[in-house]
Amino acid sequence: EPIVKIRNLSKSYRRGTQIIPVLSGISFDIARGEFVALMGPSGSGKSTLLNLIAGIDSADEGEIEIGGVEITRLGESDLARWRAVSVGFIFQFYNLIPVLTAFENVELPLLLTHLNRRERREHVEAVLNVVGLADRMDHYPSQLSGGQQQRVAIARAIVTDPEILVADEPTGDLDRASAEEILQLMDRLVHEFGKTVIMVTHDPRAAEKAHLVRHLEKGELSVT
Ligand code: ADP
Ligand code: ADP
Repeated sequence: EPIVKIRNLSKSYRRGTQIIPVLSGISFDIARGEFVALMGPSGSGKSTLLNLIAGIDSADEGEIEIGGVEITRLGESDLARWRAVSVGFIFQFYNLIPVLTAFENVELPLLLTHLNRRERREHVEAVLNVVGLADRMDHYPSQLSGGQQQRVAIARAIVTDPEILVADEPTGDLDRASAEEILQLMDRLVHEFGKTVIMVTHDPRAAEKAHLVRHLEKGELSVT
């Protein structure tokens, strides 16, 4: 049973009186434990597709089923609850909160759960260990390198133990060595921790790490 099932998904944006079609009826499945790279020209709708899968944006038509939940049928508050624990989002520019330490940034998603303070600390320390930053947990984002900030962001994305991780150009702002570290970490999340990763990327080296590359162009998806 695939973890992600997408059927006839369509999305367009309105710009003034103009309607801009972005996704025109795409369908595909993603198997559990898959590492998918989503490529395609700028403006082809990669981020839009990722945001739909993560439940950040809503589709015009079609269905998205993730882990047996048809998220396209959820109302706003159910969707927010689902999103908080079921999917981890990794951004190009990390999106860490500058006034919070690495520890506090990673703890944030857990504040929405029933975990108490001690349990939260255990989870945060465990994932900071996974990303190799346990010794930096009291540092603020500005005291960390880009690669370290992205590792904190990855720790934040996995702290609720979601099955799915979506990443929008996670290496786009990093030098080659840091990018390689981040890709190795994502690879570990797939192989060691059984996560399913969907990653938008322009970087052929990043795509090489993935099992499967899909191209989005003119609203249509293709496999290579
Ligand atoms: P990609 O990630 O492949 O670069 P995007 O999904 O960011 O593509 O954007 C696809 C198209 O949709 C672009 O033409 C973009 O300008 C447009 N678009 C994306 N988000 C919005 C929005 N919130 N409102 C209006 N247009 C948008
Ligand atoms: P990408 O790196 O995917 O190309 P962009 O810089 O095009 O991202 O877009 C960044 C964010 O701005 C996206 O989340 C997208 O939804 C939004 N966006 C993109 N184009 C437009 C637009 N024309 N109008 C409003 N929002 C947009």
